[in-house]
Formats: sequence, structure tokens, C-alpha cells
Amino acid sequence: MRIPLFAANWKMHKTVQEAVGYVRELGALVRTLDRVEVVVAPPFTSLAAAAEAARNTDVEVASQDVYFEPQGAFTGEVSAGMVKDAGAHYAIVGHSERRRLFGETDEWVNRKARAAIGVGLGAIVCVGETLEEREAGQTLAVLDRQLGAALVGLTSADVAALVVAYEPVWAIGTGRNATAAEAGEAHRHIRERLTAACGAEAALKCRLLYGGSVKPDNIAELAALPDVDGALVGGASLAAQTFFEIITHARR
Ligand code: PEP
Repeated sequence: MRIPLFAANWKMHKTVQEAVGYVRELGALVRTLDRVEVVVAPPFTSLAAAAEAARNTDVEVASQDVYFEPQGAFTGEVSAGMVKDAGAHYAIVGHSERRRLFGETDEWVNRKARAAIGVGLGAIVCVGETLEEREAGQTLAVLDRQLGAALVGLTSADVAALVVAYEPVWAIGTGRNATAAEAGEAHRHIRERLTAACGAEAALKCRLLYGGSVKPDNIAELAALPDVDGALVGGASLAAQTFFEIITHARR
């Protein structure tokens, strides 16, 4: 019943021209697919052009971040309303690179998620433990903390429409993906935690993505897990053909 979602996080890659070319290529590739949502997250500079190129295709666009204030003296920031105005459907918030490199706190991630939801964007909230936290046996406690904070002020309807990406930090950009057992445990735990917080109905509608070194040859096993509803893909999403292969391999 949950429509799988595959999101390409380009990070700080691609010019406007490259973004438009990619979206056109991907749009042609995914035209034949059904029951899947395909999203690309370009840098802010390419957002409007990518959204324009995605018009009349089955590709949607997300921002990689938003700021939580609607407008004002916040040099360098981009509001959720601006992202929506540029043509995006989703906003990624709380990516581990934002948390680790730019000091984003759990509270900020929650404010950003609420700002995105408040303007009608779908929020893709990223959670995940570092290697030290995993080795210290703190994985589930970290997920509880990050998720608990992210859900503050969200209604059950918000949670039903939410997308949560489980991205173990040690698996991002490292070539080392979580095993099916590791991802399965984390996703099951997130679903249970959502159920406890907002009830089974909303929790069962919320889509949970796996992210961390996803490639065409490792997605099938992860996507087959009952609580995995798609993937957030970084490096391997930079070529439209490879991202398309990830989507199709997941559906086998
Ligand atoms: C990401 O940036 O969200 C990500 C999962 O990156 P990669 O696929 O490169 O590990």
C-alpha cells in the first residue's frame, strides 16, 4: 500500500545545464514504471530549472535542505516557501552532512521539517547513527533521540505523509552499506517508534527509506525488507542510468 520512493541526493554536484539534461534523461527512463515515486534533489541553484524540466514527467524535485524561517535577514539561507515556489515537492532535512559539517541540531531538524510541512512540501527527515555510536551499542537510542525530536509538534496526518530516511553515517559515501539484518532492525525499530508516537495508522503510511552506499547490485536485498519503502541515494544517483537501475533492481 505504501508507494515506494527513490530519491537522488546530488549533494553539491551539477550545473543548471547538467541538472536539466539529467532530469530529461531520467524522465524518459522512468516513463514506463508504475507504482513508484522518483525524486531528484539538486542544489538550490538548479532547483527551478530541474522542476521545469520535470514538468510533464514522472520525476519530482526536492531541495537538499530548507531554513525554517519564512523570510528575513538570514544571509545565504533559503526558506521552505521559496523551495516550494521553485517547483519542489519535497525537502530533505537533517541529512547527516548537515548535522555533522554544519552543526545542525535535532531541534533545528524538527523546525525545518515543520517549516517544510507548513508550506505543503513533503519532508524527508534523515536519521542515523555514527560508527562510534553503533560500536557503543547506541544505534537504537540515537534513532529514538533523533526521531523523537523530529516528531515534536507533528500531527498524525503529518507523520502519515512523512518520509524518514535511515542513513547510518558510516555507510554514507563509504562504499559500505548496512547489511539486511542491520537495516531491517533499524527500520523495524523506527516503525515501532512511529507507532508508539502517533498510532499504527499513521506509522503504516509513513515511508521509510534506506540510504548509505546504495548501488544497483545491493538494493534488491535491502528493498525486499518489509519496512524499507525505497532509498535515498547519493553517489550512485549522479548518473541517471545508474539511478534508474537502482529503481528497477529494487522492484525485482
Ligand atoms: C546520501 O547522501 O544521502 C547518501 C546515502 O550517499 P551515498 O549513497 O553516496 O552513500
